[in-house]
Amino acid sequence: MISVEEALARVLDSVEVLDEEESPILDSLGRVLAEDITAPFDVPPRDNSAMDGYAVRAADTREASRERPRVLRVVDRVAAGAASGCRVEAGTAVRIMTGGPLPEGADSIVRFEGTDEALRSGPAAEIGIMTEVKPGWDVRYAGEDIARGSRVLKRGLVISPAEVGVLASLGRQTVKVIRRPRVAVLATGNELVNLGQPLDEGKIYNSNSYSLAALVSYYGAIPEILDVVRDSEDSLVARLREGISADMLLTSGGVSMGDYDVVKDVLAKQGKVSFWTVRMRPGKPVAFGMIKGVSKSGAEIKIPHLGLPGNPVSVMVTFELFARPALLKMMGRKDLARPLIEAVIEEDVVNTDGRRIFARAVVSQREGQYFARLTGPQGSGVLTSMTLANGLAIIPEDSAGVAAGDKVRVMMLDWRKKDLALAST
Ligand code: AMP
Ligand code: MG
Repeated sequence: MISVEEALARVLDSVEVLDEEESPILDSLGRVLAEDITAPFDVPPRDNSAMDGYAVRAADTREASRERPRVLRVVDRVAAGAASGCRVEAGTAVRIMTGGPLPEGADSIVRFEGTDEALRSGPAAEIGIMTEVKPGWDVRYAGEDIARGSRVLKRGLVISPAEVGVLASLGRQTVKVIRRPRVAVLATGNELVNLGQPLDEGKIYNSNSYSLAALVSYYGAIPEILDVVRDSEDSLVARLREGISADMLLTSGGVSMGDYDVVKDVLAKQGKVSFWTVRMRPGKPVAFGMIKGVSKSGAEIKIPHLGLPGNPVSVMVTFELFARPALLKMMGRKDLARPLIEAVIEEDVVNTDGRRIFARAVVSQREGQYFARLTGPQGSGVLTSMTLANGLAIIPEDSAGVAAGDKVRVMMLDWRKKDLALAST
């Protein structure tokens, strides 16, 4: 049995950052930018008004006041998107809307509130300026947001909604990003029934393919659910040769010590096993290696294969610990680890066999301190414990357990779930 760290290191060593592709900007959300973005022009492209008002020469507003307005001749009107053909000469003004390009000759804006416009009936040929402005007031200068030629976005960053907006402001329709990994998801087990089929005696629905495929999409990769294979080497080998085009293969089940646990044997015969037990609970039986198969185009291939356990909780926890960081690395991400926090555990947890326990926990915050309580029964088949948990409380392998009140580290899975989980108690 190897440690969680050792297992993760071996998985990460076996996967590479995938290649780049050109993607529509909306589909780049959450992905890693694979080019530096340099601005081909200024944003905004030209000086414009930050407010609705009058474009003027600041010198013309000197000593203007409510009592002694300075009257200017209105020579034009401009809206956003339009341009003024007129120049603002001394003694004149142009009525302008927010975003309207600053007319030549003007150097500042007087907001409507600073004029006597409200006192005049209808569009007037003259406007009384009732406040003094300085050059530059309420003007947005060309390049104020992004200067032409500057590097706005750096290769390697993870694209968030703000970056999508910046790309659009530069007129970009597509952008170069690291491609998403394709992940084949394959459940094994004679007991499994497909959704939509009746549940006969002794059978269970195949939930693992769905929780796994959902996790794969959740982290930005592309899942492909393959048909369930039965617990025989032949059935699995035949499936691998039927055509798999994926950057990673995730199987569930068939990796423990039972009579029908054929996955690790097939991995051993059709590839190379890197490890098949990890010192953790849940999820001790988890195998990893490079497995041989045939791609959809008929080529012999070798793909990284994580043989996850069959139990529905184990499959999700081992995905979090090994598959998620591997997929993130393939996607060009550098931040592979989940955030760890320190919390006070609210109940005893016993560790009987020297494995690292990842207990499903609900973390909440009170008086500046995190507290973690378990979700209830911790059996590795209790999938609803994952619906309640927002974190995994870590009980070290070299301890006999922890007592209520002890500090533990918690790997946070979902910060938002706390309110939901607390509301249901
Ligand atoms: P195994 O590791 O293959 O022995 O599977 C352990 C247990 O996990 C089985 O007895 C099933 O109860 C459960 N299990 C295995 N595969 C699935 C699956 N695809 N969906 C739901 N439960 C599963
Ligand atoms: Mg099985």
